[in-house]
Amino acid sequence: MRSRYSAYASQNYDYILKTYSADQRAGLSAEALEEAAASSQWLALRIEATTSASQNHPEQVQFCAYYREQGQLCQLRETSNFVVEHGEWRYRDGVIAPDSGPVKWPRNQSCFCGSGLKYKRCHAR
Ligand SMILES: [Zn+2]
Repeated sequence: MRSRYSAYASQNYDYILKTYSADQRAGLSAEALEEAAASSQWLALRIEATTSASQNHPEQVQFCAYYREQGQLCQLRETSNFVVEHGEWRYRDGVIAPDSGPVKWPRNQSCFCGSGLKYKRCHAR
């Protein structure tokens, strides 16, 4: 999960493609992933909850990722499903929460990135 976020942040779309589950990867390409994400600058990731895989259930990771797009701070809140293929975790799919999208972060509130600084002294700059 964190490695996929890092790959988005560093625009390593080959890695993102590689870590999709086989059934999802079939209709994707690194170029298409890049096109979809190129206008986003990824800023921070917060893992909110994880549930272990059990019989008939994939591992789930609930996260919030912050990014900037066209100067606007946005959040992506998603619950992702991961499956094991060939001994490695692969992203299968996810459900995006309805409060995803542009966010107004109060300037005097602690920054979303967890730095401990006020937003105005951190990522608002
Ligand atoms: Zn920050």
